[in-house]
Amino acid sequence: MKSVDEHLQRVLTTVLPLGLLEMPLLDAHGCVLGEDVVAGGALPPFDNSSMDGYAVRLTDVAGATADAPVSLHVVGDIAAGASTGISVQPGLCARIMTGAPMPPGADTVVPVEWTDGGVAQVRVSHVPALGAYIRRLGEDVQAGQQVLSAGDSLSAAQIGLLAALGRQRVLVHPPPRVVVISTGSELVEPGETPRHGQIVDANGYALSAAAREAGAVAYRVGIVADDPRALTEVIEDHLIQADVVVTSGGVSVGAYDVVKDVLGRLGDVAFDRVAMQPGMPQAFGTIGPDSTPVFGLPGNPVSALVSFEVFVRPALRRMLGAPQLGRPQVQAVLASPLASPAGKRGFARVRCEHDGTRWVATPVGGGGSHLLASLASSNALAVVPEDVTDLPAGSTVTTWLLERRSR
Ligand code: AMP
Ligand code: MG
Repeated sequence: MKSVDEHLQRVLTTVLPLGLLEMPLLDAHGCVLGEDVVAGGALPPFDNSSMDGYAVRLTDVAGATADAPVSLHVVGDIAAGASTGISVQPGLCARIMTGAPMPPGADTVVPVEWTDGGVAQVRVSHVPALGAYIRRLGEDVQAGQQVLSAGDSLSAAQIGLLAALGRQRVLVHPPPRVVVISTGSELVEPGETPRHGQIVDANGYALSAAAREAGAVAYRVGIVADDPRALTEVIEDHLIQADVVVTSGGVSVGAYDVVKDVLGRLGDVAFDRVAMQPGMPQAFGTIGPDSTPVFGLPGNPVSALVSFEVFVRPALRRMLGAPQLGRPQVQAVLASPLASPAGKRGFARVRCEHDGTRWVATPVGGGGSHLLASLASSNALAVVPEDVTDLPAGSTVTTWLLERRSR
């Protein structure tokens, strides 16, 4: 039997970050940047008002108070986006909107709240500081400044910054394309009525969603019967669009476990028993002309999804060039005891919450690998070391937090 660490090591030495690709900005959301980004221009690109109000020369409103307001003639309106040619001469002002360019001559903005809001003539009853309410050219970003670095992850704010700098495309590690195949002659599609003995394909959906959560693009190919010819055909048909192939089912020792035969013939794939619970049978290797990585995960839904978290997710994160391969981890206190098999690393479904002072993990459901509802009521996996069989309530356990969408 192989250890979890040995198996993961083999996976992570086989998969490599995908080559850099220029992608449209929104498609790059969730990806890792492959270039240093230098601002072509400044942000803000011009001095502009941060308030709706009046662009004034401060000396003209000096001494204004509520009791003794100062009146100024308004020469015109400057809306956001407007190019007016207005300039502010002594004794005059311009009505200005948030984001509109400051007119030449004015040095300060008086917010509309400090005036009577007049259109032709305005009474100012409060004096701001010199230069108040002006957002200065370049105070956010200077032209030529490096704003993002290769290796940075592109979340909403980074995407916004790139857009503000005028970028339409950006160089990133593209998201790996994951082809997800469910094997099993007992499987039907959601929406079909299963005959006695049939069940609905859960893994195809769970694994596709998990691949997306890891930042990949998932193609759920669907169901393939336990028939070597059919499976070979489906895999060969879809290899062209795959950076990774993930199958579920058919890797244990049953008479109809055909994945073993098929993957074994398509490339260099090892079938291992990995010392973990759930998820002991694991296939991993490369197939096809491009040596595409392939994972053959066990069929039980809990085993499949836990195997994904332990092996496939880190592989996909590595392909994405992501700095963090695994889920966020916390040390949690167990709310009730947890048993785990000797000699295997246990991945127990828990509900993990922060109670204000510490993380508390409550085991949910039984140990059965078919118990999808208990998996769905958990939000974390407690990781029990190989040499630990009993964790009493109150003991501390490393816990992976599963709730997080990265793409
Ligand atoms: P296997 O690994 O093919 O022996 O499957 C183990 C168990 O998981 C069997 O009870 C299968 O019916 C079940 N199973 C296999 N594939 C799926 C799937 N895609 N969705 C739900 N259950 C599955
Ligand atoms: Mg099967």
